Amino acid sequence: MSVDIAVVGGGPSGLFAALGLIRAFDGLKVKVYERAKNYRECGAGITLDVNGMKALRAVDEELFSRFQSTVVTSVNAMQNFDQHGKPLGQQQNISMKDIIGKIKAKTGVSMGMIGWFDIQQMIFDALPEGTVEFGHAFTDFKEDTEGLTISFEDKPAVKAKYMVGADGYFSPIREKLLHDGPPEFTNTVMWRARFPWKPDCGLPKGPEYVHSFFGGQMHGLVYGLPGDVVCWILAVPVHLCEQQGVEYDAEEHTRSKHRKQISSYQNADEGQGASAHQRCSKVAKVAPPQMQDLVKLTDPGAIIEHGLFVRQANELDKYAETGWGKGRVTLIGDAAHPMRPTGQGLNTALEDGAVLAWHLQQGGLSPESMRAFEKERIPRVQSMAEQEYARGATAYKEDAKAAIDRVKTLPMSEEEFNNFKHSWEPQRLASAVAARALRAQ
Ligand SMILES: Cc1cc2nc3c(=O)[nH]c(=O)nc-3n(C[C@H](O)[C@H](O)[C@H](O)COP(=O)(O)OP(=O)(O)OC[C@H]3O[C@@H](n4cnc5c(N)ncnc54)[C@H](O)[C@@H]3O)c2cc1C
Repeated sequence: MSVDIAVVGGGPSGLFAALGLIRAFDGLKVKVYERAKNYRECGAGITLDVNGMKALRAVDEELFSRFQSTVVTSVNAMQNFDQHGKPLGQQQNISMKDIIGKIKAKTGVSMGMIGWFDIQQMIFDALPEGTVEFGHAFTDFKEDTEGLTISFEDKPAVKAKYMVGADGYFSPIREKLLHDGPPEFTNTVMWRARFPWKPDCGLPKGPEYVHSFFGGQMHGLVYGLPGDVVCWILAVPVHLCEQQGVEYDAEEHTRSKHRKQISSYQNADEGQGASAHQRCSKVAKVAPPQMQDLVKLTDPGAIIEHGLFVRQANELDKYAETGWGKGRVTLIGDAAHPMRPTGQGLNTALEDGAVLAWHLQQGGLSPESMRAFEKERIPRVQSMAEQEYARGATAYKEDAKAAIDRVKTLPMSEEEFNNFKHSWEPQRLASAVAARALRAQ
């Protein structure tokens, strides 16, 4: 098998970069090699922000419109609670609908909540059939003057002119390329789930609410998604997990076993299921009663557990002059800049896809175009990572009110950060007509 561009990793960043490259070049042979055998409904949800939306629009207007009409913009009740489940006075009932409406009036773009899985699936559906090769676990690559030879576990090697590493925050490609060690453990463990609304879940049907839980050093989030889906996220520092009898060995998790587990979330037959449910049920004792009830109601197979691993923003300093790739290989998404999961990991992953496709279209397929992409991205993702690190790391306070008020102490104020995110304007891809023809094949 021989391709022009091999994208390794079929998460949101890999799928979207592949779409961008296919849109950018008529007839380019692009394949996505994904370790998982299939996709399944998993993960929770995410705010698809204005910058992520603009990235979608820069690559594919139709897909952008589909996302515009899918995201939830109508949340009326955004409520904060403390660790005992008590509503927090004056913070109650902030209308997200109004905030989103004002942002739309300013930027012309709707932002809103959507399921993580739904983003992945919608981008996958926009790709030409057969673009994604499942069951391909990358193991190694070699580069010579002709191009790359990419090896996979139990599958024939693939020849490619270029490779995009979109293989997540434990990126095996990054390890081979940069040898700069694993990401750093943040001493926090996270559980995420989604399940169809049930009458006894104590929540309204539909996506009209977002409940945030702070204090007691934990953080929880509960919200609805379209299609009567309920999502929840629980994040707890390791020392509190240990108090509940749940160990988390970060070193063990940075070794290969966990890397496989991370990508196996996608496989229906390999999920962590009962173990994640059992561990989360124990740890949930530190969470408010509402969240404990939701954990009980969730089908064990729907829960995924993972530690939060990041790279600090200043780690990118060393790549400012050279770019974070080498030769015919670049990195995108979590492989390049894993951030705290406060919403911008996915949005910046989409930004990467749009900017990479534009640079390769403008400069042609070359290592220089890849370096130009990386150098453009570094200052932006550094600022994003710095802000999101501060927002995430300071959320786990004993006092719920202090946890909410932490936003006043972040490097950028909320207004500055919104401007930073929302004023971003990617260059739009040319050659959309050729792209449409390709999709029809
Ligand atoms: C199952 C899952 C659920 C998630 N749910 C949420 C959520 O609800 N909310 C949220 O904010 N964020 C969620 N995230 C994180 C979020 O998706 C990322 O921060 C962001 O989307 C960046 O995406 P990415 O494509 O760069 O990385 P990822 O989404 O991690 O995708 C990386 C892909 O690479 C594949 N891969 C890994 N190793 C190999 C290999 N050796 N060979 C081939 N392929 C490989 C993985 O299977 C995976 O599909 C989730 C991630 C995963 C994997």
